[in-house]
Amino acid sequence: MTLSTFGQVNLFFDKAADRLGISGGLREMLVKPWRELQVQVPVRMDDNQIQVFTGFRVQHNGARGPYKGGVRYHPAADLEEVRALASLMTWKTALVDLPYGGAKGGVQVDPKQLSENELNKLTRRYTQSIEHLIAPNRDIPAPDLGTTAQTMAWMMDAYGQSHGHSPAIVTGKPVEMGGSLGREAATGRGISYILQEAARDFSLDTKARIVVQGFGNVGSWTARLIYDNGYKIIGVSGVEGGVYNSDGLDIPELQNYQHINGAISGFTGGEQISNDELLVLDCDVLIPAAIDNVITEDNARYIRAPLILEGANHPTTPEADRILTERGITILPDILVNAGGVIVSYFEWTQNIQEFHWDEQRVNEELSKTILKAYMNVRTRAKDEGITHRQASFEIGVKRVARVVELRGFV
Ligand code: NAD
Repeated sequence: MTLSTFGQVNLFFDKAADRLGISGGLREMLVKPWRELQVQVPVRMDDNQIQVFTGFRVQHNGARGPYKGGVRYHPAADLEEVRALASLMTWKTALVDLPYGGAKGGVQVDPKQLSENELNKLTRRYTQSIEHLIAPNRDIPAPDLGTTAQTMAWMMDAYGQSHGHSPAIVTGKPVEMGGSLGREAATGRGISYILQEAARDFSLDTKARIVVQGFGNVGSWTARLIYDNGYKIIGVSGVEGGVYNSDGLDIPELQNYQHINGAISGFTGGEQISNDELLVLDCDVLIPAAIDNVITEDNARYIRAPLILEGANHPTTPEADRILTERGITILPDILVNAGGVIVSYFEWTQNIQEFHWDEQRVNEELSKTILKAYMNVRTRAKDEGITHRQASFEIGVKRVARVVELRGFV
């Protein structure tokens, strides 16, 4: 039987819960989402026809603070996937010690097929449909796959129409509307900080050859910041395929090309390759930063990178995780590696609540402190206990959430 993405994430949770000795009702409270909502999102399209989309908001666990998590616009965003992503947010916010719980939202839609006007309407209708579940001290959405700062601007405006000016209702919004400096780059910047630290641990120098799957918010910022730090990016890809150059790609040129052409295919600074070929390139670090379930039992045996930094959420299935671990490949997991986004979202939210702005240097310094502290904790636990970095990350996160659930007196 093929496990859903939620079932797969729960295998990682189970390992942590087993080793932490968490069982019975407490374990059940930690696994099951606390609240789930499925909504109908009807939109009158530009051709005057009504099209009905399906949306979700899953609040997985709120023990440590308001629910926090992005909103995904993707054709495959179903309840099981959104549940999985919500639970990852619970463990991630706990691992990096933010006072948040975990949530996720999604609408089953391919945003590329909608006009700006249709996307605006879809976002407003979705926001109205989940409005009774969200609030600045209750549940705070943010961008994810297929959504942007503009989406957050529409959400904030739609929410504000019935609740008054509420910048703290979403994070990742435009700076002009109360967004934080540094938020757009934050996930990629967090990845670049972890890479710098991991480079010391895994003896990498700037000759290291790096491959990045995905060239959206996370992938392009990661590639750019790592490139600026002097590393060689030999391959990147988007949904339509990738580009490879063994001498290293000119990332600023590629960003420019994508900006003009809307995709990276056709870029002449390297050879065209498929996403399947990209994942198995001979390289020193592989950074999947696109979608989930791309490293599977089918390709895990052929992956040649000795070190994987998971920029995307759940890019590796548990079976692939087992194969890679057996092969001696180190995986720094999603809940650690891509936490820069939610860390700076937290800074944005605190700035909104205090009605005060930080400069970008302060944002980046605080991001570095927070994410590297989590990295050190994971590294120490993995080493001391002789477990993988993923196991160590889940154990730290799950233990923190379980402790607060107990302190609250639920059990
Ligand atoms: P995005 O929509 O900005 O970019 C997605 C990228 O993935 C695009 O380049 C797209 O072409 C590519 N892509 C889509 N489908 C693909 C496929 N089938 N094969 C290969 N490439 C494909 O999204 P994003 O915000 O960069 O998010 C990427 C990943 O990072 C997601 O897993 C998301 O959950 C995770 N993430 C995002 C943030 C954030 O702050 N945006 C934070 C943490 C984690």
